[in-house]
Amino acid sequence: MEKVVIIRYSELGLKSERVRRRMERALIEHLGRALPGVRVSRERGRIFLHTSSREAVERASRVFGVASVSPAEVVSAEFEELLKAGLEFALPRVRGRSFALRVRRVGEHEYRSTDIARELGRRILREADGARVELKKPEVEVFVEVRGDRAYLYDEVLRGVGGLPYGTQGKVLALVSGGIDSPVAAWMMMRRGCEVSVLFMNPQPLVDERTPKRAEQVVEVLASWASERLRMYVSPYGEVLLKLLKAEDYRMGCVLCKRMMYRVGERIAAREGALALVTGESLGQVASQTLPNLAAISASVRVPVLRPLIAMDKEEIIALARRIGTYGISVQPANCCLGPPPKPVTRATAERAESAEEGLEVEAMADELAERAELREVSPEEA
Ligand code: ATP
Ligand code: MG
Repeated sequence: MEKVVIIRYSELGLKSERVRRRMERALIEHLGRALPGVRVSRERGRIFLHTSSREAVERASRVFGVASVSPAEVVSAEFEELLKAGLEFALPRVRGRSFALRVRRVGEHEYRSTDIARELGRRILREADGARVELKKPEVEVFVEVRGDRAYLYDEVLRGVGGLPYGTQGKVLALVSGGIDSPVAAWMMMRRGCEVSVLFMNPQPLVDERTPKRAEQVVEVLASWASERLRMYVSPYGEVLLKLLKAEDYRMGCVLCKRMMYRVGERIAAREGALALVTGESLGQVASQTLPNLAAISASVRVPVLRPLIAMDKEEIIALARRIGTYGISVQPANCCLGPPPKPVTRATAERAESAEEGLEVEAMADELAERAELREVSPEEA
C-alpha cells in the first residue's frame, strides 16, 4: 500500500498562476530541506511527501506556508476497488464509534461522490459492529479524496504553521535581543514569507557573556524553523551605549539607545538588501514603548520599521514563544544593559531626542557600529 502525506497550503490558491507557481516551487524546496531524503512531488495542484514516517508529518507541519497535512493511503479510483479499499481502511477505525464519510472528487469519473458515500457507508454499517453515522460531531471522520485515477484515504487533518513559503516575500533585518519578544517578532515575519537576517547589539562589557550567548541560541531556533543558516550581525555596542546613557538628558536613555540601534539597523539593512527593520515592540509594554516614544525612535531612520507584536498582549506573545521554542532560552538569566534610568521619559519627541544627541556625533557612531559588526552564519539548533 503506497503511503503519502498530503500537504495543503493556504492562500496560494488566491494568487495568479505565475505567483502560485513560484510559491509552490519555494514550498517544495523548503519541504525538501526540512525533510532530507524524503521525495516531494507535485501532482494536479497538490503537494505530496512520499513517506509514512510520523516524524516527517510533524516536521512538514512546521514548514512555513503549510496550512494542514494528512497522512494518507493511496488507492485506485476505480469504483469497486475504491469501495473495497475504503472499507478496509474504515473498519478498524469505526468499530463501536460514530463516524462520518467525507468524500470529494476532482476529475472525470463514472460515479459521483455521493455514490461513494452511500455505498461505502452501507458496507461499513453492515460490517462494523456498533458503528453509526453521525454527520455533525462524529468520533471518527473518514476522508475519501478522489483525484483522477487515484484516491486518497485518511482520517486526520493536522494543522500546519500557516503563513507563506520562506523567502517569497523579500528580506528584512530583525533586531533580536534574545528576550522574549524580539524572537517572536522575527519568527512572525519569517512565517509570513520574509527571509530574515538578524542584528544583535552587544552591550558587553555592560553585560556578561550570557546575554550574547542567549541571543545566539534563539537565532539557532529561528534557523531551525527556516531549515537553513541565518545571517546574524553582532555589533559591539558597549562603549557607545555607555556614552548615550550618560547623556545630560539621562531620562531619554532608552529612547537614545533604541535610536542608535535603529540607525545601525538601517545601515546593515542597506548592506543586506533588506527593505525593513523588524522589532519586538508591543504598545505600552514598557516605558520606552509608548506611542510618542516609538514615533521619536522611528524618526531616527527612514527605513520602514515593522512591529508585528504591536497589538499583542504579553500572554499571547509568551504562548507563541513557547510554541516557537524560544521561551525557555529567553527566560534564562541574562542582564540587559543597566536597566532603564529612573523616571524614563514616556512622552518623547524627535526634537527632544535630537537635542539630547547634540554633540554626540550619533551618525558617525552608527557608521562605526555598523562597520564593526561581525557577521556569523548561525546553523539550525541540533534537534
Ligand atoms: P525583547 O523582549 O525583544 O528584549 P523588550 O520588550 O525587552 O524586547 P526593549 O528592550 O524596549 O523591549 O527593546 C525593544 C526592541 O528593540 C526589541 O524587541 C528588539 O527588537 C530591539 N532590541 C532591544 N535590545 C536589543 C539588542 N541588544 N540587540 C538588538 N535589538 C534589540
Ligand atoms: Mg528586552
